[in-house]
Amino acid sequence: SDVLLQVDGLKKYFPIKKGIFAREVGQVKAVDDISFHVYEGETLGIVGESGCGKSTTGRMLMRLIEPTEGQVMFNGKNLTSLSAEEMRQARRDIQMVFQDPYASLNPRHTVAQILEEPLIVHQIGTKAERRKKVIELLQIVGLSEYHANRYPHQFSGGQRQRIGIARALMTNPKLIIADEPVSALDVSIQAQVLNLMQKLQQELKLTYIFIAHDLGVVRHISDRVGVMYLGKMVELATSESLYEEPLHPYTQALLAAVPVPDPDFVKETKVLQGDIPSPSNPPSGCTFHTRCPFAKDACRELVPALQEVRPGHSVACHLYDDAVTMI
Ligand code: SF4
Ligand code: MG
Repeated sequence: SDVLLQVDGLKKYFPIKKGIFAREVGQVKAVDDISFHVYEGETLGIVGESGCGKSTTGRMLMRLIEPTEGQVMFNGKNLTSLSAEEMRQARRDIQMVFQDPYASLNPRHTVAQILEEPLIVHQIGTKAERRKKVIELLQIVGLSEYHANRYPHQFSGGQRQRIGIARALMTNPKLIIADEPVSALDVSIQAQVLNLMQKLQQELKLTYIFIAHDLGVVRHISDRVGVMYLGKMVELATSESLYEEPLHPYTQALLAAVPVPDPDFVKETKVLQGDIPSPSNPPSGCTFHTRCPFAKDACRELVPALQEVRPGHSVACHLYDDAVTMI
């Protein structure tokens, strides 16, 4: 199928400033040279611990955060070269769903006002047409016209996320970037929202980037999954391949940490040990070497590149250096 989004060499370095003169004393490499693509109609999961750069990546794709370097091609357009006004227009086709729907919904606006806003921003439709679209979207996400004149605080967490999703869909986008859309919800509600998102994807032919801190959450919704660690993509594979045979020691550890319903099920992999290092002073070589049970001397010196070691399965780890040369 066709590539909708192509990301090349994306970086975000934030300056670290100190003292009353705000002298720059270093950099945080929040996102450090990542490349990937997203096919039209698929869901790409992006997973990693907090601070790994996954949210920064999502925001850079829409230029809500300006990249330090790199290129984002979307639907044949180079987003990184657009003027502010051109980018504003391009955002019609890319929308975000946020983790905390309550924080992202204006408490003083009714649901109708909240949903109408993207149409007003993009100057779409007459007042009557906008109202019609609001009612249509409320119904699509499982709410009704009855809810249009209510305020965010009158809804449950799950309903608020439905409103957040409806708002994202108002401009008929092609791509939705969902940043931990179910992390703030009760487990029982998470499945409902995930099911809704899958239904909407099929009906509206949407493409998703689904950001999460937990491999369990993205398992069923993702066609492919990328795993990030300290600003880098360390593994990228089809869901089937990733969950059945994770190659990177970090992915293996994350999967071992996902609770399994069967108590007799014993994983051979060790559970992740130690804290995530500071991104302002990351370890040399493979940044995972301080926590990796397989680290060898080369790992402390050489940065492993993300390389395809079997069809559709890429990994950045020296354990697979031989597999790369064999392809
Ligand atoms: Fe572990 Fe080395 Fe692979 Fe990094 S490159 S994940 S330290 S084995
Ligand atoms: Mg985040």
